[in-house]
Amino acid sequence: MIDFEFHQATDLDHAFSLLADYGDDARLMSGGTALVLQMKQRFSQPGHVIGLTRIPGLDGIEETEDGSIRIGGLCTQRQVENHPLVTERIPLVAGAYRHVATPRIRNMATVGGGLAHGDPNQDPPPSLIALGASVVLSSANGGQRIVPAEELFVDYFETDVRPGEIITGLVVPPAPDGAGTSYLKFLPRTADDYATVSVAAVVTPDASGNCGDVRIVLGSVGLTPIRAAAAEDALRGQPLTDEAIREAAATVQDAVDPLDDHRGSAEYKREMAEVFTRRAVRQAAGQVS
Ligand SMILES: Cc1cc2nc3c(=O)[nH]c(=O)nc-3n(C[C@H](O)[C@H](O)[C@H](O)COP(=O)(O)OP(=O)(O)OC[C@H]3O[C@@H](n4cnc5c(N)ncnc54)[C@H](O)[C@@H]3O)c2cc1C
Repeated sequence: MIDFEFHQATDLDHAFSLLADYGDDARLMSGGTALVLQMKQRFSQPGHVIGLTRIPGLDGIEETEDGSIRIGGLCTQRQVENHPLVTERIPLVAGAYRHVATPRIRNMATVGGGLAHGDPNQDPPPSLIALGASVVLSSANGGQRIVPAEELFVDYFETDVRPGEIITGLVVPPAPDGAGTSYLKFLPRTADDYATVSVAAVVTPDASGNCGDVRIVLGSVGLTPIRAAAAEDALRGQPLTDEAIREAAATVQDAVDPLDDHRGSAEYKREMAEVFTRRAVRQAAGQVS
C-alpha cells in the first residue's frame, strides 16, 4: 500500500475545505471497498484520503413531496436494499442493490461511492436509469447540481462528478402506476460475481393495454450502462406480445459494445444481451396492470 495521509471530515464544509486544500492529490473515501483496492493495486495513488462516513445527515432515506424516494449519499447499500420505503415504493432498486456482491461488501459500500466509482459492471445503475433517477452533487458554499443518472456515466470508470463535488444524494421516482419492472443479472460463475450481462426494464401500459412507455437499460456490455433506445422505440405503441418483445430485443445486439474478458467473449455477451433483454421485458410486461 502507498503512503498517504488520512483526514476524517466531520461535516460537509470540512470535506470541501480539505478538497480545496489538497486538490488533485486528494481522493474521497466512503465505504472504501473500491478505493482501497485501487490504492493497493496502485491504480490510484493519492497523498491524501478524505473520509466521509462521519459527516452527519447524509444517511437518511425519506419520501419527497412529489412521492420520489430520496436516499442519502452515505447510506450503505445494505441499508437501501432493506429500507421499507425502498422495498415498497421502488422494489426494483432494492432488488438491484441486493444483487451487489455479498452482504459484507454491501454493509460497507455506500450509494455515493458506488455511483462515483463508475464501473459499467455495477448492478444499481441500469435500474436507476430505467426509473429516471437523479444524482445530487454538492459543492462548497451550498452549491448543488442535479444530474440525471443517465448522464452521470460518461466513460469507462469515468463520471460527471467534477473536482470539488461530493455525491450527497440520489432521488428515485417510483415506476408509473400500472408499470411492471424487472432487473435480471446473468452471472454464470458465482453468485457474488459481477454480471456478465444485466438488464433493467420498466414497462408502462397505455389505456388500451399496449406498451405506452418502456425503458430498457443494460449493464456490463459497454463502457457505460447502455440505454436500448431502438428496442424501446420498437415496442412503444405495440401490443406486448411475445413476438413484439422478441423483435425489439433483437435490436439490442447492435446497441451494445461489450469487452472480451474472463466473463465471456464480446460475441457471447452480445447474444446474452438479446436473450436477457427478452426475458427482462417479458417479466416486466407480465406484471403490468
Ligand atoms: C469483492 C467485490 C465485489 C463486488 N461485486 C459487485 C457486484 O457484484 N455488483 C456491483 O454493483 N458492485 C460490486 N462491487 C463494487 C462495489 O459496488 C463498489 O466497490 C462500491 O459500490 C463502492 O462504494 P464505496 O462506498 O465503498 O466507495 P469507495 O471505495 O469509498 O469510493 C469509490 C470511488 O468513489 C469516490 N467517492 C466515494 N464517495 C464519494 C462521494 N460521496 N462523492 C463523490 N465521490 C465519492 C472515491 O474517491 C472513489 O473514487 C464489488 C466490490 C468488491 C470489493
